[in-house]
Amino acid sequence: MPVKYYEFMREQSRAGLEHLCDAELDKAETKPDRYSSIGSLLIDEILYTFDLPAIDKSDYPRVYNSLDQMKDENVEEKFIQKFAQRNNSFYHGESNIIFLRNPEIDGFIEECMHFVDICLCGELRKSWESFNMADGFYAHILAEASAHFGVKVIFGREFNEHAFRGRTSYGLYEDHLRFEKEYKTTEQDRFDEICPLAKIFEQDKDVLNEVIHLLGYRLGERIYGCYAAEKFSDADFRQLITLNLREANSAIETYLGLIDKLE
Ligand SMILES: [Zn+2]
Repeated sequence: MPVKYYEFMREQSRAGLEHLCDAELDKAETKPDRYSSIGSLLIDEILYTFDLPAIDKSDYPRVYNSLDQMKDENVEEKFIQKFAQRNNSFYHGESNIIFLRNPEIDGFIEECMHFVDICLCGELRKSWESFNMADGFYAHILAEASAHFGVKVIFGREFNEHAFRGRTSYGLYEDHLRFEKEYKTTEQDRFDEICPLAKIFEQDKDVLNEVIHLLGYRLGERIYGCYAAEKFSDADFRQLITLNLREANSAIETYLGLIDKLE
């Protein structure tokens, strides 16, 4: 399908979604769970767009945009603490809650994509703690890639990596891109020298999180490019988003495999 057609479709679906969300917000201005109902709409849209397996409505996440509202609804304190520590929107699989810091549609769709991803992998309400660091790192990158791709198809979204230039995360991101190019041809004894993982894992959570997003969104952009050029199909995406990456090394192998394939 030509890229132009995709752009047209994207505009249409974007306008439709904005309209739906506005209508939902209007009629439910004072309803405390209005974001949860918009979340269900967005999840339905995601499942429909990519022809994904249905998800039981009772598994759909609760969506909050304030910590007070969580307290009012008796969300467990240990979960509230997790949301309080971060200043961005995110989906937390163990509590099955989307916390929206700023209720913008594209960020909202991204968190819904994360929910769909985790749910279809069979990981809903499970903790990430059993992942080792490297597996967790690449599994998160793949999740960001799928999410960014989904937001791009459904709502249109540009990723400008240059906005991160000059930051610690950007330097590590570039180190990783170099590693991706060189790891196959590098002698075994120089592997440690070119592998940036140790340096990345020394960083604090915010930097680590930025590196994950940079690598993930970049891969999402590539997936989108191939999708628009019909080299990556809906079926390929279904396979990616339903892949369970619990097994040791499966996340890094999937990541590097995609980088190769989508060259
Ligand atoms: Zn994300």
